Amino acid sequence: PDGQQGIRADGKLLIGDAVLLAAKMLSTSETPLLDARVLLKFVLATDDAGVIGFGRDFLSASQAHQFNELLLRRRNGEPVAYLTGQKEFWSLEFTVSKDVLIPRDDSECLIGAVLERRSKNDQMRIADLGTGSGCLICALLTEFPNAKGAAVDISGPAISIARQNAEKLRLANRMSFYEGEWTAPLEEQFDIVIANPPYVTEAERPELATDVIDFEPHDALFGGEDGLDPYRLILSEMGQILKPDGLLIFECGTNQTDELAQLVRQFDGRYMPFTIFDLAGRPRGVGLDRRKD
Ligand code: GLN
Repeated sequence: PDGQQGIRADGKLLIGDAVLLAAKMLSTSETPLLDARVLLKFVLATDDAGVIGFGRDFLSASQAHQFNELLLRRRNGEPVAYLTGQKEFWSLEFTVSKDVLIPRDDSECLIGAVLERRSKNDQMRIADLGTGSGCLICALLTEFPNAKGAAVDISGPAISIARQNAEKLRLANRMSFYEGEWTAPLEEQFDIVIANPPYVTEAERPELATDVIDFEPHDALFGGEDGLDPYRLILSEMGQILKPDGLLIFECGTNQTDELAQLVRQFDGRYMPFTIFDLAGRPRGVGLDRRKD
């Protein structure tokens, strides 16, 4: 059948044809053509224009070998971002490894929720709990040039990836990094607390795609029976770390916003929590703005 033999390594395969062949090999992926293009871009060390521009050149034997290897791993379910070691978030390039959850486009709505409620030049301290790759805090510090960030993660390898990303994006001079559980390592108060904790429920476990469950860190995915355990832990300490006029922003599962809003109200019943919607219009998070104006 088509594409079973893989990519020819005899120097006679046109780059333009290699993309189409690769897409056929990846027919079990939800996005075969996109995956093939991103992986070939990585092999050729070029951009989209490059892949098109080189379309009538031949793939070298070593490029073909490398491409083949990546395609086989992808066919086995390994996410493209782990194969290339990179993922774009908020138009910034993040280094990722198997130690961190791959940034999701949907999480960009959390950044939008902050932008809607705070001004560009505000001087603020922002804490990102369970920072992983650091994508949320790095995106926020890029948008708020006078803000300072604290990135917390219980995983040492994750903290080291977050630090690499902050350095690459020239944000490290405004950031502190803490290895520890949620709020535990923090000793000051923050204007903004943001978190995308693990929230997948036990009922959802069997429904997760192979790409996710076989490759992404389970500590970053599963939030206990109802997926809300991490929020309970975080909220139990929130009084100590969120300023009286602070902003709290949580990502959660699309079916969890009502329950999470209740938990947030138990933390502070004076203000109505708001729902945050993702790019597809699905409920994707809950926030609480304690600013009085
Ligand atoms: N949105 C992720 C998924 O569906 C889960 C991320 C998380 O638990 N924080 O796989």
